[in-house]
Amino acid sequence: MTRGIHWFRNDLRLQDNTALEELVSRADAWLPVFILDPRIIAGAGFGAPRTRFLLDCLGRLRRDLEKRGVPLVVREGHPEEVLPKLLHETGARLLSLNEGVTPFARRRDAAVRQSVERGGGEVVERLDHVVFRSSEIRSAIGGPYAVYSPYNKTWWRRWRLEPRLPGNPLRLPPPISGFAAEWIPDPGRLGLAAGECDIPTGGSEAANRRLQRFLETAAGRYHEDRDRPDVDGTSRLSPYLRFGAISVRQCFARAEEAVRAEPMLGQGIGKWLDELVWREFYSAILEEHPRVLRENHRREFDSLVWNEDTDAFEAWCEGRTGYPIVDAGMRQLRATGWMHNRVRMIVASFLTKDLLIDWRDGERFFFQHLVDGDPASNNGGWQWAASTGTDAQPYFRIFNPVAQGKRWDPAGHYVRRWLPELRDVPDRHVHAPWNSGEPTRYPAPIVDHAERRTIALERYKGAREKGART
Ligand SMILES: Cc1cc2nc3c(=O)[nH]c(=O)nc-3n(C[C@H](O)[C@H](O)[C@H](O)COP(=O)(O)OP(=O)(O)OC[C@H]3O[C@@H](n4cnc5c(N)ncnc54)[C@H](O)[C@@H]3O)c2cc1C
Repeated sequence: MTRGIHWFRNDLRLQDNTALEELVSRADAWLPVFILDPRIIAGAGFGAPRTRFLLDCLGRLRRDLEKRGVPLVVREGHPEEVLPKLLHETGARLLSLNEGVTPFARRRDAAVRQSVERGGGEVVERLDHVVFRSSEIRSAIGGPYAVYSPYNKTWWRRWRLEPRLPGNPLRLPPPISGFAAEWIPDPGRLGLAAGECDIPTGGSEAANRRLQRFLETAAGRYHEDRDRPDVDGTSRLSPYLRFGAISVRQCFARAEEAVRAEPMLGQGIGKWLDELVWREFYSAILEEHPRVLRENHRREFDSLVWNEDTDAFEAWCEGRTGYPIVDAGMRQLRATGWMHNRVRMIVASFLTKDLLIDWRDGERFFFQHLVDGDPASNNGGWQWAASTGTDAQPYFRIFNPVAQGKRWDPAGHYVRRWLPELRDVPDRHVHAPWNSGEPTRYPAPIVDHAERRTIALERYKGAREKGART
């Protein structure tokens, strides 16, 4: 009789879960466990919106399991101590888990593996959060890619040869007896403020509904609408992918199925799938270069001098820089835990190039507030905007926040939604209200974009020249 435990982490679903599939194919009885690790849950940076979303997903997973007669065990503590005890308590020999990618996850999982194996157990570890790990997507000379477009080409070549499609629905073995489903703590008990943030409903059912709705409505126009924050043109699946309420393979399979049924959707869906490949790319970068979590990927910018400007940083955080598209984005983030991708790029460029504040400060703030906060994608996005990343925006391309606003939110619907102070400003001035000549309650710009652009160009150029000499 083989007993097993599946340790749920960022894979909060029963469908198409690779390590769980392996476990249930080998175990005669099993138990699922989730561990509230104080280093993560209450740790610095793991913000309240994301924890609340995680707990909601967990509560729904618990109900999905209960419907199948399986109790979810919830423990608190360090997994490397909790898991060997639980294996002992249940008489289980197998432990399954899906791979993590951050340095913290890798160290913790190595410690878990060591303690389980020392006790005579076996750990089954599988790739789940991405389709291909970094070592599976290699350049012609066998190394990892540092630039997205050739990575993308090789990724698709590999997918065509070896599409990794979702597994069949699981046949779960009976649970190990003597355990009852445990309550998921509420956010207050974990010391998290109730918060005003309006987060989405968690869980696999909501994720699948969202994917279906996206494929039926916006996907066909994604290539045209994806940069428009005033249009509901993207999937909003990022928090679900972050916690594994849906798998990336399910997204690929369902999207390709939609194109087979309706070839006209091909262009939009193709572009959407390329965004999921960006997610794989940033995960691969983190896997290959864990130092990017602390350092510039491009060392030539290491001597760049950042401003220490607490007032400007606070104005950015609170959405009162005086640039509507920046402030609308920051207010959307604080109100919903999500921000449109184009606006993420604009606010990140504004922080690093107009305010010349270190990208790490912006990355940390995003991580605290985003429901989808993901170390790899967040770091990749920030280093891209700061021109310090792998595939970054060249340093001399600096977004003009007014021009970006006019281009991507032409009638000002998006900025007016988040900045009611601008409701009565005419469309032609809504991205530069100081030109309207009318008094508004909206603040004046905290910096002059043209001036700051010149300073940023000088600093970046100087740092690069210095970097090239050293
Ligand atoms: C500064 C900055 C920080 C970011 N931080 C995060 C983060 O912490 N977590 C996160 O998931 N994404 C992050 N992104 C990427 C992107 O903004 C979000 O994934 C996207 O806005 C999520 O909305 P959606 O689900 O509607 O995306 P869609 O447009 O529907 O795209 C589908 C999926 O593809 C992935 N994706 C899309 N764009 C990107 C991208 N540029 N990089 C990596 N993956 C992408 C996401 O998983 C997304 O859910 C960041 C981007 C920037 C510029």
